[in-house]
Amino acid sequence: MSARIIDGKTIAAGLRARVAERIAGLGYRPGLTVVLVGDDPASAVYVRGKDRAANEAGIAVHTIRLPADAPEPALLAEIARLNADPAVDGILVQLPLPPQIRTQAVVEAVDPAKDVDGFHPVNIGRLAAGAPFLVPCTPLGVMRLLEVEGVTLAGIRALMLGRSAIVGRPLLALLLGANATVTVAHSRTRDLPAECRRAELLVAAAGQPELVRGDWIGPGAVVIDVGVNRRADGRLVGDVAFAECAAVAAAITPVPGGVGPMTIACLLENTLTAALLRRSVEGQKPTAS
Ligand code: NAP
Repeated sequence: MSARIIDGKTIAAGLRARVAERIAGLGYRPGLTVVLVGDDPASAVYVRGKDRAANEAGIAVHTIRLPADAPEPALLAEIARLNADPAVDGILVQLPLPPQIRTQAVVEAVDPAKDVDGFHPVNIGRLAAGAPFLVPCTPLGVMRLLEVEGVTLAGIRALMLGRSAIVGRPLLALLLGANATVTVAHSRTRDLPAECRRAELLVAAAGQPELVRGDWIGPGAVVIDVGVNRRADGRLVGDVAFAECAAVAAAITPVPGGVGPMTIACLLENTLTAALLRRSVEGQKPTAS
């Protein structure tokens, strides 16, 4: 193996510590409310992780739980209440939602100034226009990893593998904003291996276990693997065949322990950003706690 392993766990811990330090200096605790509808076990685990990390960073975090059969108007009313609550800086509605609730209606109900997931169309539009405000956490986490690793993005030939609304498209905008020359590949791309081989930076977010093989990697490329896939044997793997690609790349993220830990760290960063921006916009007096 020749590649440098990008240690997302350590980088995320550093980011969380920096956020905690900045919060400690504020004189108030930013507020984050997580809304969980139903009892999906995976969602419950994610919410517990967010709760713990936010608490550790000094964020006043609350979880609101609604039953799995909660009607859409009940959730929308809860969001309207949180939008109006000055103690709430960030609102995160844990996805997926039960079938009786329209996800897009819920995403659009959150005040864009409190949208710490960065999924509101206003925030997507701002990002696409090159004026980011609150940015989706996983793409932001990828950018933070690249920053800490000292990867020069200006002029780099980047391949974004995947074009989803939550990973690929925001990353296209962020990489472009950092002056990379970005190609976006997807399931209809012709000769994907050749596209990958040309890339100096490859970001994989296809949701396909070990799709990217060692001979798809250009020598010396930086490889960021966003994928999280569980194999039949229970093993967690990325979208990149790690050992093969690590033999060719200059630097690579592992799965787990690469991009994953950055997502929660960036949620904390977004909550701090939302608190600072909202208070600067509204000229509010911070509430002591
Ligand atoms: P998604 O919505 O399923 O999008 C996958 C994208 O990859 C689509 O654009 C799809 O193309 C493309 N694709 C799929 N198979 C392909 C193939 N064989 N060749 C080329 N392109 C292909 O997935 P997502 O939500 O972006 O998530 C991607 C991965 O990241 C998943 O493994 C997910 O679990 C992981 N993830 C991790 C985190 C984290 O915190 N680490 C957060 C979010 C997601 P089309 O558009 O043509 O269908």
